[in-house]
Amino acid sequence: MHRPLRLDLDSTALVANWRWLAERAGVPAGAAVKADGYGLGARAVVERLGAAGCRDFFVSTWWEAEQLGTLPDGASLVVLHGIGPDDLAAALASPARPCLNTPEQVARWKQAAPGRPCDVMIDTGMNRLGLRQEEAGLLDGLIIDTLHSHLACADEDHPLNAAQLARFRDAAASTPAKRHALANSAGTCLGRDYSFDLVRPGLALYGGLPREEAAGAIRPVARLQAQVVQRRSVRAGESCGYGATFVADRDLKAAVVNIGYADGYFRGFSSVGTARAGDTVLPLLGRVSMDLLIFATAGADVGEGDWLTIDFDLPQAAERSGMSQYELLTGLGSRFDRRWS
Ligand SMILES: *Cc1c(COP(=O)(O)O)cnc(C)c1O
Repeated sequence: MHRPLRLDLDSTALVANWRWLAERAGVPAGAAVKADGYGLGARAVVERLGAAGCRDFFVSTWWEAEQLGTLPDGASLVVLHGIGPDDLAAALASPARPCLNTPEQVARWKQAAPGRPCDVMIDTGMNRLGLRQEEAGLLDGLIIDTLHSHLACADEDHPLNAAQLARFRDAAASTPAKRHALANSAGTCLGRDYSFDLVRPGLALYGGLPREEAAGAIRPVARLQAQVVQRRSVRAGESCGYGATFVADRDLKAAVVNIGYADGYFRGFSSVGTARAGDTVLPLLGRVSMDLLIFATAGADVGEGDWLTIDFDLPQAAERSGMSQYELLTGLGSRFDRRWS
């Protein structure tokens, strides 16, 4: 069925971003595909990166692992939240490996699947997930594929980066594992000291800019397009939208477009968002509604059924809307027709 809003998704840009990250790291790059591939569609992302040679994929939960379906040949999948008290049946039936995060999870895995490989997360300073370093003795007897840690501040020049690196080096030296992995997208930009054997980018694969070092190299992947429902003439002195926050100071033409905050175009774009008709920039008038936006169309001939491109350059959109690039990507809703090139 026809849908009045679509996400044009660029396979070539996705793969180019993955290759750039691997080259920058000097080691293989996996792909974080949790939250449905950061909103773009995990299944489609895994197929495309798998065909390009990516062999390591990461989701958060067993439900996400199951939703992914069959993996590309030779690829492995890791469930980052590990194996909780209600996950045993799903984990034993799944080809994915858990990333064990706590003494409880370690004990559970040893008992339920002795000899079966797992990954392990060591906390080196974030205090979110992972064993404390002094608990590493509990790992004896596990077959660890990859030992992970995760950086808390890789998108900033923060002293915790070097501290976490040093702690992870210590942990890696004393814990036998086939591979070691520390860096997310931003960590991959910090330098090859952070690469170890594998990097785990997410954001930058999908066109997000994790740090300035990646500017110019990371290409946008998603383009938002929405169709015009109605063209309007607004008279001087009249207002537009909820709250009447925009008042026209002269007669103007406007286009009302099929996208709103229910699609992840959040209220923070009110009065500051823009769209394009060809090369003409159209300013957003007033507030974002649930399903509709109103753009001024001065200088552009825009009518019912025309498609507008909604500006969504991630770093810029994050700054304008007051949300993070991660929130903007993962917020993209289910009403978009996701169309991969
Ligand atoms: C989400 C996640 C990543 C990817 O992070 P980005 O900042 O999106 O590159 C890497 N590692 C872990 C443990 C994660 O949870």
